[in-house]
Amino acid sequence: MTEEKNISLEKMNSFRVIHMAKKLISFESKDEVISYLKNNKSEIDDILILGEGSNTLFTKDYNGIIFQSNIKGIEIIKEDNESITLKVGSGENWDDFVDFCVNSEYYGIENLSLIPGSVGAAPIQNIGAYGVEINDYVVRVSGVDLSTNTLVEFSNKDCEFSYRDSVFKKKLRNKFFITSVEFKLYKKLPFNLSYSDLEKLNTSELTISKLREEIIKIRTRKLPDPKSKGNAGSFFKNPEIDENKLKNLISRHKDFKYFKIKDKKYKVPAAWLIEKSGWKGYNDGFVGVFEHHALVLVNHKSEDGNDIHILSKSIKDDVRKKFDIILEEEVNII
Ligand SMILES: Cc1cc2nc3c(=O)[nH]c(=O)nc-3n(C[C@H](O)[C@H](O)[C@H](O)COP(=O)(O)OP(=O)(O)OC[C@H]3O[C@@H](n4cnc5c(N)ncnc54)[C@H](O)[C@@H]3O)c2cc1C
Repeated sequence: MTEEKNISLEKMNSFRVIHMAKKLISFESKDEVISYLKNNKSEIDDILILGEGSNTLFTKDYNGIIFQSNIKGIEIIKEDNESITLKVGSGENWDDFVDFCVNSEYYGIENLSLIPGSVGAAPIQNIGAYGVEINDYVVRVSGVDLSTNTLVEFSNKDCEFSYRDSVFKKKLRNKFFITSVEFKLYKKLPFNLSYSDLEKLNTSELTISKLREEIIKIRTRKLPDPKSKGNAGSFFKNPEIDENKLKNLISRHKDFKYFKIKDKKYKVPAAWLIEKSGWKGYNDGFVGVFEHHALVLVNHKSEDGNDIHILSKSIKDDVRKKFDIILEEEVNII
């Protein structure tokens, strides 16, 4: 366990904004978490859990205690001819884990290559990309309930996974410290090439490594690298609307974009709404909207996360006025 006081968060958030935290504690095991909480009961309400900060926007200094996982390791729990179950420490880097699985030819999560962040944060918003979400591969999430200081396990069902959401992002936000995640992966599985950019791949020559390489290429082309341009990927979720609202919107906007998700429910690409509201490529010299993808807000050179927050509120306002749709943030705003 390490403990640091008055620490700059600049290198701990992918927007690269410069705010401070009063205290940062990094844990190497679940026992360390339990023993820390036993001795520091009064701090429980001030805890913020942070992974690698690639889905977090700090808008001010954090005047409390940040808990971070440095719990490492990949352990085989179960294996047969068809599948393997792995228990992974929450402090492992997500893409290192995907790389390990691809090299070992464990199929399932290859489409989630190059998503920034930690393994522990992956269940929080049920990370997803290119037609795959981790809820299809998570068996169990284990961790410490911070209010009772006990070890708790969540089955896949208990996690209440949905689109960019889970029980951990709602009522258990900052109340449950994930220490490990178990994944069931497969020795062979058909590739998921449902996403339009992947449909054109030659399936007869495709291997798991080639698919990972392809996804890395697409992502590198489409998304800004947080190392050179601060961002947190998609800032908003794609909103869901019902049939009545859809009919109304189609009558007002002839080119309205949407896709059906279930009976009488539709999803609208938030990037399209933002672009049509005139924000794509916006740049005030400090913060802006990525010129190639309107869902990605970027930090050009602001030190203050509040600048990005203000921009996001203006975008939300304009989308609401134009389409009567309220965008919901995917990013965690602190
Ligand atoms: C360039 C870019 C592209 C991205 N593309 C995608 C994408 O394709 N799909 C996608 O789903 N996301 C994407 N994201 C968002 C981000 O990568 C994921 O949300 C990722 O899981 C965040 O991991 P993190 O460790 O950085 O989380 P953080 O930002 O540190 O934390 C995110 C949330 O998880 C909680 N948390 C973190 N660790 C723990 C823990 N151990 N226990 C309990 N709670 C915890 C935090 O409290 C917070 O609420 C992208 C981000 C960037 C910058």
